[in-house]
Amino acid sequence: RVRTRIAPSPTGDPHVGTAYIALFNLCFARQHGGDFILRIEDTDQARSTPESEALILESLRWLGLSWAEGPDVGGPHAPYRQSERGDRYRKYAEQLVESGHAFYCFRTSEELDQIREERKAAGLNPGIKGDLELPQAEVSRRLAAGEPHVIRMKVPDEGLCVIEDMLRGTIDIEWSQVDCQILLKSDGMPTYHLANVVDDHEMEISHVIRGEEWISSAPKHKLLYEYFGWELPRFCHMPLLRNEDKTKLSKRKNPVSIRYFERLGILPETLLNFLGRMGWSMPDERERFDLPAMIEHFDIQRVSLGGPVFSVEKLLWLNSVWIRETLDDVSFVERVEQWGYPMRHLTPVVNHVRTRVSAFSDIAPMTTFLFAGDLPLAPADFEHNKFSAEDMVSALQLTSWTLDSQQVWDKDALFAALKSLAAYLDVKLGVFMFPVFVSVAGTSQSWSIVDSMEMLGPDMTRARLRSAIK
Ligand code: ATP
Repeated sequence: RVRTRIAPSPTGDPHVGTAYIALFNLCFARQHGGDFILRIEDTDQARSTPESEALILESLRWLGLSWAEGPDVGGPHAPYRQSERGDRYRKYAEQLVESGHAFYCFRTSEELDQIREERKAAGLNPGIKGDLELPQAEVSRRLAAGEPHVIRMKVPDEGLCVIEDMLRGTIDIEWSQVDCQILLKSDGMPTYHLANVVDDHEMEISHVIRGEEWISSAPKHKLLYEYFGWELPRFCHMPLLRNEDKTKLSKRKNPVSIRYFERLGILPETLLNFLGRMGWSMPDERERFDLPAMIEHFDIQRVSLGGPVFSVEKLLWLNSVWIRETLDDVSFVERVEQWGYPMRHLTPVVNHVRTRVSAFSDIAPMTTFLFAGDLPLAPADFEHNKFSAEDMVSALQLTSWTLDSQQVWDKDALFAALKSLAAYLDVKLGVFMFPVFVSVAGTSQSWSIVDSMEMLGPDMTRARLRSAIK
């Protein structure tokens, strides 16, 4: 049976990379009628926090991802939090010592640094290798004396480790490049490598789909499976997300927290769709697709290894497509209000707003002029005006007088009035409207001005025109 997992470490903000890897694990499992599960890898007690764990789960749920087993939903292999899995890791580490595949090591990190330096100077492999193992009698004596120690796995000195990767085929790694990895730390906690392999085995994970940053760990993991006599899962190392400059996606260059995109007003459907397009595409190349469609058409072999670029600009574009194509005015208002912005006063312009935003956070700046008093206008705002300075003032003055006596205040009547003024002045409607636009909306980059005038009402509209003339 296919079983995949996401195994986040709760050490920071929920990362888009975690969602990306979770999405591909979920699609692979579902497509094969298998299970996708969630496990928390919190063996780094200094850096792990319950707050971070809660935020990661919440963000993945917000995206619409769900797991069959996990710390929140339980399951047959509970607990799903490594910190709660008792002393099983110690037992497994000691089992490897007994079988001769691991050894106690009493060296401090300073001593190890020194050993590396000495080996380098002598032209030897500076790696931490099995020659650090001490005679049994000395080990027993130092253990009995309570000296601090770790347990390290033994790793061959030479030869090739061959990893079969679902996307990359055969990967060869020289054993000489692989250190005798610590399995159990001096505080008694397991390292990632031991806990990860033990749990993947106990939780019956069949396919390990994770970021390519873990390729260098794969030899150690493969060896651990061999030492324990356990069946090796299939490995699949996904390409990492990249910044625009193709370097590894980093928070110094790009927002990477799922919460940032939620705050920005990106739809969860969009973010999931966008992550699905990182290295993968639909067989028919369509840009917009939802999770069920991705599961239906998923084929992990179609993942391309060229580094997928996480472009926020492209994400905003895709979000505007989602908003325009999947929301009508009513559902748009619902979603924006869920997100946290009150739409009740914006009813007359909802359609304009909906078709113009790429994220919900665009709404506030786009609509402030509808709630403002006097607009802070500068001469530069009228820069693209085609009238002479004098003619512009007269045109605005004329508009102001005309609107003073305007009885019916709806957009059609207002449009008719403005149109006849342009005809009277014998200028194109666009030329005539430009200064009116800027005076009333503060910018010419807005929707039809008569919609805004209707919403602003006669008093505010007239006041804006008067203050622009001054
Ligand atoms: P660091 O500065 O330590 O490299 P980071 O940006 O990798 O930080 P982490 O907190 O270590 O962030 O990563 C959180 C999760 O996001 C991990 O599961 C990691 O695999 C994943 N992740 C981080 N960067 C990427 C990336 N570029 N592509 C895919 N996943 C990533």
